[in-house]
Amino acid sequence: MKAVQYRAVGAAPEVVTVPDPEPGPGQVLLKVTAAGVCHSDIAVMSMPAEQIRFPLPLTLGHEGVGTVAALGDGVDGFSTGDPVAVYGPWGCGTCVNCAEGRENYCLRAGELGILPPGLGAPGAMAEYMVVDDPRHLVPIDGLDPVTTVPLTDAGLTPYHAIARSRSKLVPGSTAVVIGTGGLGHVAIQLLRAMTAARVIALDVTEDKLALARTVGAHETVLSDENAAARVRELTAGRGAHVVLDFVGAPPTVRTAGAVARVDGDVTIVGIGGGALPVGFGALPYGTNVSAPYWGSRKELAEVLDLARAGAVDVHVETYGIDEAPAAYERLHAGRVNGRAVILPGG
Ligand code: NAD
Ligand code: ZN
Ligand code: ZN
Repeated sequence: MKAVQYRAVGAAPEVVTVPDPEPGPGQVLLKVTAAGVCHSDIAVMSMPAEQIRFPLPLTLGHEGVGTVAALGDGVDGFSTGDPVAVYGPWGCGTCVNCAEGRENYCLRAGELGILPPGLGAPGAMAEYMVVDDPRHLVPIDGLDPVTTVPLTDAGLTPYHAIARSRSKLVPGSTAVVIGTGGLGHVAIQLLRAMTAARVIALDVTEDKLALARTVGAHETVLSDENAAARVRELTAGRGAHVVLDFVGAPPTVRTAGAVARVDGDVTIVGIGGGALPVGFGALPYGTNVSAPYWGSRKELAEVLDLARAGAVDVHVETYGIDEAPAAYERLHAGRVNGRAVILPGG
């Protein structure tokens, strides 16, 4: 089968032919319908060799949707042909956090060497993929696979970040979204669907800000050195109750800290290498700063239910599997509007 692989440190991803995988006992084989292209893949492909925690080559793709192609020994509960989404942050399944479905915070994944598909285990950017356990599958009946696949990360990650701050997002509150790309443009829609907050979106180009307005941002601000002052102006000098940074680079975490309100939440989702100093006097009194990771199995089911209710309209650009390297180049250059999705079936 064809697969999109990261094969050598620093090299561009390549489309190669690899043996068709087979499901082992307890596993499920999917025929992949769609796989999302995430900026985290670019971060992984930019890491020096000593930071990479898995052997290469790696089949990319940590957002996956497909149909069940075969069940390994002992698996039941699914039938061939069922359309499913893959829950990506695989955990051990038995620690206290996994017991709650919060496998993104598994206590034992590191020690057991469990890695997500596309970020260590073979991922979804291939004609077939093996899912380690049927508990990592969520039925997507009634949803379009192409616009649903980004919800497994670009939807789930912002949903989890917003859910952590939900008590602050009351009527009259303000949420700031920094970076309105794959995750950010879904975050704006989730904020509108889940909360009564006013949404202010920041990005670096007019195109991105136009998308932000289309998907529901009340205000948009160009992300430059004047951005923090502009957000203060828009919030009567007080700042935002919740700031979600989907870039996480040094200048954006600085902006995030500068626009937080007293007792606000600053949530750094992007992995752009920025860090925000926390200490008395460094930020407004009571500011909570956190850097969450992905989301829980239950939250993925909730995101899909929101999509079924029509609350999320993911903007996608689609590519065949041979065009995946070009899609990564476009994402790297900041030219993708919404989410790029690879269709391995052609
Ligand atoms: P993306 O490239 O689709 O979107 C990033 C957006 O940020 C783009 O619209 C870009 O124009 C904008 N941007 C760049 N510099 C900016 C600046 N200085 N100010 C404002 N906007 C700026 O990326 P994505 O796939 O949505 O991922 C977003 C980030 O989240 C990445 O760093 C990714 O690695 C990370 N991520 C983290 C998690 C997690 O669990 N913590 C999960 C998924 C993705
Ligand atoms: Zn991702
Ligand atoms: Zn666990």
